[in-house]
Amino acid sequence: HAKVGGRNQLRFFDPSMTRDLVRKKEIETELRSAILRDELSIFFQPIVDLKTGRIRTFEALVRWFHPEKGELRPDEFIPVAEETGVIITLGNWITAQAAKAAAQWPDDVTLAVNLSPLQIRAPGAALGILNALRDAGLPPHRLELEVTESLFMDDSENTARFMQELSAAGVNFALDDFGTGYSSLGYINNFPFKKIKVDRSFVSGPHIGRKSDAIIRAVAEMGSTLEMEIVAEGLETVEQVQAVSAAGCTLGQGYYFSRAVPDFLAAMLLAQERDGLDTGKRLAS
Ligand code: C2E
Ligand code: MG
Ligand code: MG
Ligand code: MG
Repeated sequence: HAKVGGRNQLRFFDPSMTRDLVRKKEIETELRSAILRDELSIFFQPIVDLKTGRIRTFEALVRWFHPEKGELRPDEFIPVAEETGVIITLGNWITAQAAKAAAQWPDDVTLAVNLSPLQIRAPGAALGILNALRDAGLPPHRLELEVTESLFMDDSENTARFMQELSAAGVNFALDDFGTGYSSLGYINNFPFKKIKVDRSFVSGPHIGRKSDAIIRAVAEMGSTLEMEIVAEGLETVEQVQAVSAAGCTLGQGYYFSRAVPDFLAAMLLAQERDGLDTGKRLAS
């Protein structure tokens, strides 16, 4: 996604390009020390059972509170971390931190962690994850790794080995942002996915209507036949929640239920559920 060959390729000088480059360079340098300086933290967003309203999973989402730049979005620094290889260190840290928090939750609540393709390519990646789980005291079946289809683009043999190794240990896999990439059914057929997360562009935005609804229905239908769970991402309104439930999705995630929250708030949402109070609906918006 470098700005090469795009619509702007004939421009000789684009000040915004220089700004982008400078910012990227800064992010790269600062990201390396951000972990040590304690500027990063893991937030958790609930994934809710659409039938019962109960929290089934929390997805770990990294946040960077930069002393000068303020809060940086993962969309801004994760790509830089991937390009520079920092994602390996960062990813290990995220998995370890998130697993520690999750080990405090009730046994039936799982943790979802996003994985970048580069993390999987690193030697000993699967073992590293299992070690982090052991150190945190989180059983492997309580971890779900979210990967996107970009993972299969380059080295599907290595990917297959990685997924088999972790699946054998009990770790589950979710296919994230489904519908935005090639959406090849081959991946679903060939790899051990337990969940499909339908991208939020099918739930809200300019392309919502009869067609997107039919697509969600078809994916949900396939999910129930294959005994996979279908998660609808980006649910912001009650109408969207009703629509995806009617379409057959079993799980939902989005600001309607809660934004990503710090670990103490995640634990509080679970405690409220345990005490029979209504879930975190809008609690943290
Ligand atoms: P993702 O894995 O698809 O995560 C879902 C994103 O959608 C999150 O953005 C979440 O805050 C946002 N979201 C959730 N509900 C709603 C909603 O109702 N409306 C809208 N508009 N957005 C919603 P976030 O946290 O900014 O993360 C963006 C992406 O960055 C993630 O997409 C994931 O690809 C990546 N990312 C985040 N944390 C990590 C991480 O720890 N490791 C890696 N490798 N990637 C991460
Ligand atoms: Mg995700
Ligand atoms: Mg997603
Ligand atoms: Mg995404």
